[in-house]
Amino acid sequence: MKSIRIPADLAINGAAPAFAEPLHVGRPNLGDREVLLRYTAEIYDRRWLTNNGPLVQELEARIAQRLGVRHCVAMCNGTIALEIAIRALGLQGEVIVPSWTFIATAHALHWQGITPVFADIDPVTHNLDPDAVRRMITPRTSGIIGVHLWGRPATVEALQAIADEHGLQLMFDAAHAFDCSHGGRKIGGFGRCEVLSFHATKVFNTFEGGAVVTDDEELAEAMRLMRNFGFKGYDNVIHPGTNGKMPEINAAMGLVNLDAMPQFVDANRRNYHAYAEAFAGIDGVRLLQYDEANDPNYQYVVIEVVQGLAVRDDLIAALHAENVLARKYFWPGCHRMKPYRDLFPHAGLMLPRTTRLADGLIVLPTGAMMSDADVAAVAAIIVQRLAA
Ligand SMILES: *Cc1c(COP(=O)(O)O)cnc(C)c1O
Repeated sequence: MKSIRIPADLAINGAAPAFAEPLHVGRPNLGDREVLLRYTAEIYDRRWLTNNGPLVQELEARIAQRLGVRHCVAMCNGTIALEIAIRALGLQGEVIVPSWTFIATAHALHWQGITPVFADIDPVTHNLDPDAVRRMITPRTSGIIGVHLWGRPATVEALQAIADEHGLQLMFDAAHAFDCSHGGRKIGGFGRCEVLSFHATKVFNTFEGGAVVTDDEELAEAMRLMRNFGFKGYDNVIHPGTNGKMPEINAAMGLVNLDAMPQFVDANRRNYHAYAEAFAGIDGVRLLQYDEANDPNYQYVVIEVVQGLAVRDDLIAALHAENVLARKYFWPGCHRMKPYRDLFPHAGLMLPRTTRLADGLIVLPTGAMMSDADVAAVAAIIVQRLAA
């Protein structure tokens, strides 16, 4: 058992840390160990380790059904899934993305010689602001990648209208939004395709993994070829490609964790409400809201520090001193990370809201390993430090 202390005296002042063991953001969710071992034995006996094995096919079918889409193409990770989707859509030139996202959204373009053009966000939703997207369109623009940040739906309809009006492709990075909905429909079926990540830190994981989901048969077929070197049967390569295949052991983990999704989300929801209670009436921080109607997975507990950078960094230091390894996702924003800062030193001029948001954000730990007492202790560190 780990020992926790509701800190009366902060460790930053020399007391012992509140948590004996570090509390991480994105601690992996794990389903039933025995079932995973059973799948592992099956894989061993079958000697079918990868190359579109039966467990990968089963996982794809279950995800497609769950999300109400016709096709799920499983991949080795979410970044390769993004790269393959971008290629399958024929994106080129410039593609509009938020800077306020995980760096992989931008890298998946840049890595393929496409220019990511950063558009600003809505400060309330943290998602792309459609008017900002319009401002960034040029004759070289070929598409838009919306991100359903924190699992909250992007402005899907407005982005689709812009895409239609300007003849642009629209796809979504849905890495945060597994099993979430928008307007009564599961995320996965919007735009030309949507990309999922099943990385260990995500609410649903396959160790590493990802997928592209779509209703478009031709697109799905192209991506199936691309993820397997362009092979169509033995000895017959009909398309350029790469290796994006998901191994069987990863699919096994996925099948185990799919069954445990209700428990994962319940634990996150419970923690979220415990945080909400602890922060109620505290003026210095605003807890990011979720709309229960959109089936949030509550995998991120996000607070905005009203006073901004200096207070935010002071809170992070206080949390870390207590062994609470809170994160500053996605600070400082893609446009201020070296590769993009070097390429576009003035991008920030168009991104004032992204910059402001990045300076004030903290992501707190959650997940099945945390008790209500843990949540109360984490919140107490913040509330006390704000009052100090
Ligand atoms: C995690 C993540 C990815 C990358 O997924 P991997 O499976 O880690 O490659 C892409 N976009 C966003 C927004 C993410 O959070």
